[in-house]
Amino acid sequence: MMRALRRVFDLFLSALCLWAAWYHTPPGALARTAVARLSGTRASVRPLLSYYGAGARTGQAVPDVALPTPLSRGAALGLGASAVLARLPPADRDGVLTRGGLSSASPEGLSAWIDTESARRGSREAAVLALFCGEDAAKFAVQRARGGATLEQLARELPPRYADRVALAATTLTLATAYALAWPLPESAQVTSPFGLRAHPLLRKRRLHTGIDFGIPPGTAVHAVAEGVVRRSSDDAVSGKLVLLDHGSGVSTLYCHNESLLVSVGDRVAAGQVIARSGNSGLSTGPHLHYQLDLPEGPVDPLRFRANRTLRVALGGTEP
Ligand SMILES: [Zn+2]
Repeated sequence: MMRALRRVFDLFLSALCLWAAWYHTPPGALARTAVARLSGTRASVRPLLSYYGAGARTGQAVPDVALPTPLSRGAALGLGASAVLARLPPADRDGVLTRGGLSSASPEGLSAWIDTESARRGSREAAVLALFCGEDAAKFAVQRARGGATLEQLARELPPRYADRVALAATTLTLATAYALAWPLPESAQVTSPFGLRAHPLLRKRRLHTGIDFGIPPGTAVHAVAEGVVRRSSDDAVSGKLVLLDHGSGVSTLYCHNESLLVSVGDRVAAGQVIARSGNSGLSTGPHLHYQLDLPEGPVDPLRFRANRTLRVALGGTEP
């Protein structure tokens, strides 16, 4: 009697081991893929890498602690102007600095200069325009634009020969907006896939990963990285439930694979506002947030614009 029971128990254990090996080990995954190929059916196998923890991780719950403080708008403008000046030929750079009465292109000095000029001219856009196009051109544009404060409105009043210098002012405002962005999740959230070229875990092709992935449990609060306007709040087969925010000056941010969306198209959101709950929607190997930063030239690595790394980035002169 006991022996018969023991035999049944052994049989049960063997079946359990086989089941676990079939469904939860890389050799099992290979065997299932092979069987699916041979029989011409679709395999429901996870990508092999995900068995080694390289896929999106479910991980520990992310405590909803304070988000890292972003750079102030003034400091970000100084950094943006400094980065733009660093890329100019020395003679052009010296011309801008001399005209503005500046002794160096340090982010701090430029930040203070833009601060003073913003107060005097009524807007940061006018101050940045004055830095690159000169006092007279900025004054002329401000008078003609009659209350119009965006760089586009001011630039429209200037002759075409100012186009290149207006572009420098526009790049400064774009970089400043990107430098002032906060983070969508607390610092403790783990990056499971960085920005850059990678073998796509599902499409199995080498392609640019246009954002960064954080492995977080479903339902984690996703915060707006700056104030902005909701341009998209939708659902698609690839990105899942996504939110696209427009922060002005050509900067937008994208948040994909959510479980639920908390904002609608046209909404104005505040910096730090919870805009979605993360999830595993769309083409995804596990619960994660895909966070993307878009500038006018396309997606860039958000880590390069992180508040505590910006100075190194600016000094390295490698920003887009
Ligand atoms: Zn991603």
